[in-house]
Order: sequence, then structure tokens, then C-alpha cells
Amino acid sequence: MVCLNCNNTFESDYCPHCGQKAKTKRLRLTEIVNNFIGSFIGGDNKFLRTCLDLICRPGYMVHDYLNGKRVRYYNPLQLYVFMLTLYAVVSYVLGVSDSVFDDMTNIDLDTEVDASKYASVDFVIKCIAEVGNNKLYGTLVIAFFSAFSYRWFFRKCKVSRPDGQQLPLNLTEQFYTQMYHSCISLFFSVAMLPLCLIKSLDVITSVIYQIVTIAYVVIFYRQLMTIGWWKSIVLNAISLLLTIILFIVSLMLIAVIAGVIETLTK
Ligand SMILES: [Zn+2]
Repeated sequence: MVCLNCNNTFESDYCPHCGQKAKTKRLRLTEIVNNFIGSFIGGDNKFLRTCLDLICRPGYMVHDYLNGKRVRYYNPLQLYVFMLTLYAVVSYVLGVSDSVFDDMTNIDLDTEVDASKYASVDFVIKCIAEVGNNKLYGTLVIAFFSAFSYRWFFRKCKVSRPDGQQLPLNLTEQFYTQMYHSCISLFFSVAMLPLCLIKSLDVITSVIYQIVTIAYVVIFYRQLMTIGWWKSIVLNAISLLLTIILFIVSLMLIAVIAGVIETLTK
């Protein structure tokens, strides 16, 4: 058999060189529909399995993923984009005004550069709130800073590797773990969207969401690092604190740079 994609000759259901199926059907409507659904659900219920495992055994699942079970699960960035789409669609259908589209289009940080304003406490608080609430760039920024603080505080927590070694997570692995956690948060955001329609439940909804998110990050690292509850709680707390500090320091750096640029251009 000759692969229609890369011209490799082979004998099996998939091309061993590029992974394309041996039999490619002619494009028809059913094929397009199947492809579209397949890309979402994944061949063998990949989407469903990733979601279920992420909810039922988050830390163990990430451990499996980091240790090589890569085809079985979606990588966190892919999954996050899917979840984001789901979030956008559900909030659009329900007509919830606080949708991801608003967050993405209304970036209302003041565009005019004023060094004194950048250095104010108000501005820093506003930035933290803005980034914390944004489901696209906010999540990525927080995951980025978290990678550094978690890398530092969890450096003594080793994870067993397929070759028998015990190693701590590196920066990229920490980033991926954080993004998987963001996927769970976003999943619960979607699940709780119907509650947002009832205005009187506003406070309860956000409290439940916060509790679930915090509980999950503790469970995540407890399972992933096989550590105790308290160790996970304490290490998570100080890592989170360092993340916020790193974020504020970066904001101040940006403020200084903006100030310098402003004085130079005047
Ligand atoms: Zn091929």
C-alpha cells in the first residue's frame, strides 16, 4: 500500500510514517460531518475520557499524561480551546452577558500612557482583577507565572518517571499541569452558566466556583506528587502567593518601562 499523504509504502491500517489512515474515502457530506464531530469528540471518545478522568482523578491523569500517555488524552492547550468554545457557545445560547466575547473585546485598560497612573495601587488592583477574570489571556498569564512559583516550591516533590527515576516537574510540565487545572475551572464555569441567569444566586455561584477551583488545585497536586493533604494545601498557598507577587513585580516593571518610554518620546 502506498500512503496518499507521504508516499511511504506500508502494510497496516495506518501509515507508520505520518499516521494517515490507509483508506481515505472520497469527501462527501457524511465524511465532513464525521470529521467535524470526530475532531471534537476524538476517535475513541477522547474528549469525553479526558473530561471524565480530569474530573474524577485529575492528578493521576496528569501523571499519566506526563509519563507518556499522550494519544489517550487531549493536551491541555487543545482542551482549553475546546472548553473556551463550549463556554462561548453556551453563554451565547443562554444569553448570559458576561461572556468570553465581552472579556476578549472589552479590554478597557487605559490606552493613554501616564507613568504616575501606572504606578498607582488602583491600577495594579485593576490589572489583577482584569487578568483574573479573563478566560483567555488571563488564564495563560496566570499559568505562566504559576509555572515558576510552583516549580520553586514543589522542587522537592518528586514524581516517578517511566524509567524508574524520581524527578520534580520542570517548568513546562508545571505549565501544562496549571493549564489542565484551568480546564477544570473552565468546565465548571460552563456547568454553572445556567445559574448565572438567576441574579439572586450571584454570590452563591461565585463562592461555589471558588471553592471547587481551590479544592481541585489541592487534589491535583496531592495526587500528582503523592503528598498529604496539608502539604498540598500549604505548598499551594505559598505558590499562589508567589504567583501574585511575580505578577505585581512584572506589572511594576512594565510601568517603569512605560514611564521611561514616555519620558524619552516627549
Ligand atoms: Zn504517510
